Amino acid sequence: MKGTPDAVVVGAGPNGLAAALRLAAAGLSVRVVERGDRAGGGLRTEEVTLPGYRHDICSTVHPMAAAAPFFREFDLASRGVRLLQPDINFAHPLDGGRAALSFDSLEQTAAGLGADAAAYRRLFGPLLRHADEITDFFLTSAFRRLPPPHGLLGIAGFGLQGLPSVGWLARRYFDDDAAKALIAGAAAHGMLDLTRPLTAALGMFLGMLSHHHGWPLIEGGSQVLADAMVAALEQQGGEVVTGHEVTDLREFDGVPAVLLDTSPGAFVAMAGNRLNPGYRRWVQRYTHGPGVFKIDWALSEPVPWTNPDVRRAGTVHVAGTMEETIAGEAAPAHGRLSDRPYVLAVQPTVVDPSRAPKAGHVFWAYVHVPHGSTVDMTDVIEAQVERFAPGFRDTILARHTMHAGQMEHWNPNDVGGDISNGEPSLRQMLARPVPRWNTYKTPVLGTYLASAATPPGPAVHGQCGDNAAQVALREVFGVRHAPPLRPAPPA
Ligand SMILES: Cc1cc2nc3c(=O)[nH]c(=O)nc-3n(C[C@H](O)[C@H](O)[C@H](O)COP(=O)(O)OP(=O)(O)OC[C@H]3O[C@@H](n4cnc5c(N)ncnc54)[C@H](O)[C@@H]3O)c2cc1C
Repeated sequence: MKGTPDAVVVGAGPNGLAAALRLAAAGLSVRVVERGDRAGGGLRTEEVTLPGYRHDICSTVHPMAAAAPFFREFDLASRGVRLLQPDINFAHPLDGGRAALSFDSLEQTAAGLGADAAAYRRLFGPLLRHADEITDFFLTSAFRRLPPPHGLLGIAGFGLQGLPSVGWLARRYFDDDAAKALIAGAAAHGMLDLTRPLTAALGMFLGMLSHHHGWPLIEGGSQVLADAMVAALEQQGGEVVTGHEVTDLREFDGVPAVLLDTSPGAFVAMAGNRLNPGYRRWVQRYTHGPGVFKIDWALSEPVPWTNPDVRRAGTVHVAGTMEETIAGEAAPAHGRLSDRPYVLAVQPTVVDPSRAPKAGHVFWAYVHVPHGSTVDMTDVIEAQVERFAPGFRDTILARHTMHAGQMEHWNPNDVGGDISNGEPSLRQMLARPVPRWNTYKTPVLGTYLASAATPPGPAVHGQCGDNAAQVALREVFGVRHAPPLRPAPPA
């Protein structure tokens, strides 16, 4: 691409690439500038342990990508991106060889929960009937408009039930530890103290998606999705420039629209004295939560979970009971380490043998740790896995670890290791990153935030970027209605 583009996107994560694709769909020339040596951000896949073992450095499990309006329109299948559904979406092993299991089927899941089967159906049945409306409402910018009448009741029901803490919701519905652990394990993805309000909403939302679009993984690794987005952009004349870290917005003087797939703090630094003190102060108040300590393993055989069903699950929540899960998550939220933490583990080769040489396996897990922690949690994590999979350590061929500080070094959006680009607390989900009606728009003319630090927040759904691009199209280019994404060229 020669000359000044119509729009620049800083950062080639899923949101940056989604923004670029929506802008390109309007016929604009778009340049994406990425500091890493490859596009993808949270979609990167690398051989960090042994040759031939392909590890997703960040995201692996894609209930949000499967459900999100942006990716439904992008049409993953037509771009060669295959979603693989594990037999069991997520498992939560318990002591004594038991496990709570979440299947695609609500009925099969409920049937496995014994005395809590009817209560499980009562909680998730109504959600599933309105799953599309709930998903679209919370993932698009529709929450700034009046919802469609047919979905209003479902959305209102979800909102009301999701307001309390997950512990409160679980105790209200369930008697046994399996169902309680199942929903608490899903809610713990939010990296919040689980005694806080709104944690029920994430448990319900992720549990609902398990029975709606599933919790799929991408064949070949998450990088395949990033590469497909880059290819789609290039087919429209757009370009991605890698290995370039943006530090000053003046670099883009003369470019009509600049969209930032960065942290709000990075934007403030880039904007310098173009920014008013009020906005700067609000960004200073924006809180980044706990970090993660992550391990990628190359294994000689599958993880030897005591419960054989857990060996069929894509995602495993390793924490014991709901009470242990809540205690494990309280520690990092209050600046402490836990010696029995909630471990979030993913076993990609359960569905995707292409990620490792013959007979080999890849496996990853992370724990939440205090913001910026540099403590090595390897022993603690492996002890938790051993508790439910004795002999696990004997299967390890190699490991690669990253503490919270290294996470930020890898990707500056993960401030202090916070992989959500800002705590997803009630306050920060209502006003993300600053309390303005149009949270994508910044006080710098033509400049918009487009990362997970804007609504609807973290995960791979592309909606933050898509929403920001639609605002920029309207305000900068006078395009009132979002142009449809260009379809994939015929194979
Ligand atoms: C360990 C881990 C596991 C995860 N697991 C999942 C999962 O299974 N499922 C899921 O849905 N989500 C998961 N997530 C979250 C998900 O990856 C993020 O929410 C998502 O990637 C956010 O997308 P984004 O585009 O906003 O930012 P990012 O993906 O972080 O991309 C931002 C990009 O901008 C670049 N950048 C930043 N600053 C600059 C600059 N100044 N100049 C140039 N480039 C810059 C960065 O290098 C990066 O490439 C996980 C995250 C982590 C870290």
